[in-house]
Amino acid sequence: MKIHAIQTGTVAIKTRQVEGVGQGSRRQLNMFLDREWTEPLPIYAFAIEHPEGVIVVDTGESARTADSDYFPSWHPFYRYGLREWVAPEDEIGPQLREFGIRAGDVRWVVLTHLHTDHAGGLHHFPRTEILASRADIKVASGRRGRLRGYPNRRLPRWFDPTVVDLSPVPYGPFPESLKLTATGDVTIVPVHGHTAGQIGVIVEDGDHAVFLAGDSSYTQDLMLRGIVDGPSPDETAARLTHERIRALAEETPTVYAVAHDPETASRLAERQVVGSVRLKAAA
Ligand SMILES: [Zn+2]
Repeated sequence: MKIHAIQTGTVAIKTRQVEGVGQGSRRQLNMFLDREWTEPLPIYAFAIEHPEGVIVVDTGESARTADSDYFPSWHPFYRYGLREWVAPEDEIGPQLREFGIRAGDVRWVVLTHLHTDHAGGLHHFPRTEILASRADIKVASGRRGRLRGYPNRRLPRWFDPTVVDLSPVPYGPFPESLKLTATGDVTIVPVHGHTAGQIGVIVEDGDHAVFLAGDSSYTQDLMLRGIVDGPSPDETAARLTHERIRALAEETPTVYAVAHDPETASRLAERQVVGSVRLKAAA
């Protein structure tokens, strides 16, 4: 199955956002106090060319973020914690057209979570069913959502996602899941941690799985080492998610694809599974 990693520009954040320092709310504060920026990191969205229709996982960022009034200037994260570079041609819509995929070919858009760099390309999919988790819709909505750093006034007016409620049906190490496709080869699982309700998409493709895991970690190495990022509101949930991803990779050869890992696109293109990377590192 063809799965495209689509880079919708780049983002720089604080190093302590990538690799959290301290416990609880201290970890979030440390992220703001940090003066050190990362290199520009990719902002990936994904498109799965499935026989039942194209499935887009996350929509990347919008070029409109270059407008000085796009993000609220009163919010410390946008003032001090984020730099983004997105050209109009970097947006997901034009890039899908390059692959010969039109918006009408897209059957579902799954939002792993509603952070700006995952929801910024939603305007390309006005007639597609959009799926998001109940918990994340809640944290991202209204005035409280804006205080938490979700620029929800920038969401399309028509945005009214289908709520994903996972069933108590285990999928490997994950206690809940939801089959997305009729053939049962694409499954949504909980990857809570980075946000309260973050979801991931697992594609079974022959002898291996491809795990589109949102922002479960900023790199594969950080997931393997169980390092919690700066923004995660619940450290225990984030660690548990890392454990479950590692357990899945032990059971099934798994390609790990997250939104800001510079290695994501090459791992996906080469279908380089988690174990092979570790063996290589150990050799
Ligand atoms: Zn995020």
